[in-house]
Formats: sequence, structure tokens, C-alpha cells
Amino acid sequence: MPVSNGERLLQTENSLKLIPHVLVAALAVAAGSALAQAYPNRPVTLVVPFAAGGPTDVVARTVGQAMSRSLGQSVVIENKLGAGGTIAAGYVAKAAPDGYTILIHHNGMATAPALYRKLSFNPLTDFEYVSQVVDVPMTMLGRKDLPPNTLQELIPYVKANADKLNLAHAGLGAVSHLCGMVFRQAIGAELQTVPYQGTAPAMNALLGGQVDLLCDQTTQTIPHIKAGSVKFYGVTTSGRIKALPQSPTLEEQGLKGFQVVVWHGIYAPKGTPAAALEKINAAVRFALKDPVVQQRMAELGAEIVPDAKLTPEGLRTWLQAETDRYGPMIRSAGAFAD
Ligand code: ASP
Repeated sequence: MPVSNGERLLQTENSLKLIPHVLVAALAVAAGSALAQAYPNRPVTLVVPFAAGGPTDVVARTVGQAMSRSLGQSVVIENKLGAGGTIAAGYVAKAAPDGYTILIHHNGMATAPALYRKLSFNPLTDFEYVSQVVDVPMTMLGRKDLPPNTLQELIPYVKANADKLNLAHAGLGAVSHLCGMVFRQAIGAELQTVPYQGTAPAMNALLGGQVDLLCDQTTQTIPHIKAGSVKFYGVTTSGRIKALPQSPTLEEQGLKGFQVVVWHGIYAPKGTPAAALEKINAAVRFALKDPVVQQRMAELGAEIVPDAKLTPEGLRTWLQAETDRYGPMIRSAGAFAD
């Protein structure tokens, strides 16, 4: 059908009118994907709840450095100290949910709700869950000149001198505190405890002879054990570990059921966009596949968790299970931090 000039003009006008809508829609799509692609366009802060140089810090710095290669931005470590790790977790729970502030934390996320009655955050509802990271054994240590050389000698020595001995830890709810409590209970003796803001300063106090005992993670203790600068009484896992194959566990030396393993998770504030969470998760996976990270973790006794735990669900369900496990134990012991 022939088209008149008038109609042609009308068609052209209509298609011209369409252009702005098409343009706007196209621009919006482009802007949306640009926003998603733009994350991260500045450094990401990984908050560590304990002192620089300590076990959690070592894991954070090793993994964070490799994550930065996947993210294309540096991962900056911020040590936010205090209250067994709860200051840092509360800080991240309230941080802007934009993917630029994330948290690494351990079992303390599961013990805090039972230990702290006035907790400013809820570990099970105030976060997005990124991934688990590594599992780390602990080791029971004494100062170098503590008389007992073995666990068999240590137990009666602690019982006889409980009022004179002290055990250092990284604050109520830190795993060094938890391990110390389990040890006290296992041997049936009271011990004074001395809190520090991480086990890096606690280890310095042990090396300096200001404290007598410390239960701490292999990520910090292996070099000191190998150098012979501390007394070493055993590992806290159910079996011997590859990094210290000659060293007996506390359990095989008679402390039946003694088992403390430190697990780590990475969290983001609730409401962090899914696109950012996916990139952070991909960066954690990338980091844990890095041969340099793998070698460093193996030397320090840390075990990279299986793939099923490298997921938001893997962390969330684990946190729930651990909260259900520790909560009743802590409540029945009547232990409160505040
Ligand atoms: N995570 C350690 C603890 O809970 C402390 C530290 O990393 O400094 O004892």
C-alpha cells in the first residue's frame, strides 16, 4: 500500500519520539551493569577483631592479599580490638552494607550470644554470610622456664599451684579463652586468667615470662614451638596434625574428649548487594586456591575448608550449629562476660 508523504512524516516523528525511551532504557541497563561491574572501585576493609600479628590477623593478611588480586583492589586490614572480638563484629554489623567493610571472625561469633547479655548485634540475623575459610588447631603452651615438661607433669603442677599460676587469653569469648576454660574443666583446677586484646600481646607476655600458660592457634605458635622458646604440652585436635606430626594431642595423653578447633568465617553487613557478595566469595575461593596461600597455611597448621563450606550457606548453617552447641554449654556453666 502506497504511503503518503504525510504518513511517512508521522512514522518518522513517532520513531523519533521513541528514541528517548529506547535511549533511557539502554542507558539504565548500561548504568546498572556498570554499577555492578564497578564493585569494588576502592579498597575493601577486612576487619580483624584481634591484635595485629596474631592468629586471626595472620589468616586475614595472607588470604586478604590474595583476595585483592581477584578483586582488583587492595584489601586493607583494620584491627578493631576489644571484648573478645565483639567490638569488631558490632562495628561491621552497623557498617554501610556496600561491600567495602567485611569481617573475619572465628568461633567467637557462636559463643558471644551466650557470653554477652548486652550484645549490640545478632550473629544470626545482622550479617550476610560469605564463606568459611580455614580451620586451625590450637596448642597448649607454657612459659619456657615453667617446670613441667610434659602434660603428665603439668596437670599435678597446675593443681598444686593453681593460686599462683595464670593463663593468658585474647578476651572473653576468644578461642584462647574458650580453650583455657576447657583445659581448666578437663583437669579440674581453677586458674587465674589475664585478658589481652589478642594473642599476639598474650604470646609476648608468655615469652617475657609475665604469664604462665597460653592456649593458642598454630598460626601463631608453630614458629615458637619449633624455636623451643615455649614449653609445648600438646595439640587440641582429635588427631595429630601434619604440621607437627611428632606432637601428641591432649586427648591421646589422657584428656578424654578434649577438642578445640578454630573455624573462621567472612561476614558482611546485612543488606550488602548480592553482586558484591558474589565477588567477595569468588575472591575468597581464588585466594584459597593460590599455591602461596596454600603453602603458608599448611606450614602454620591451618587447613583450608572443603568447597561445600566455601559458600554463604556453608557458613550460615555452621554458625547456627555452633551457636546451638556452645550456647547451652556456656549457659549451664553460668559464665557471663558482662
Ligand atoms: N583469635 C585469637 C583468639 O581468639 C586471638 C588473636 O587472633 O589474636 O584467641
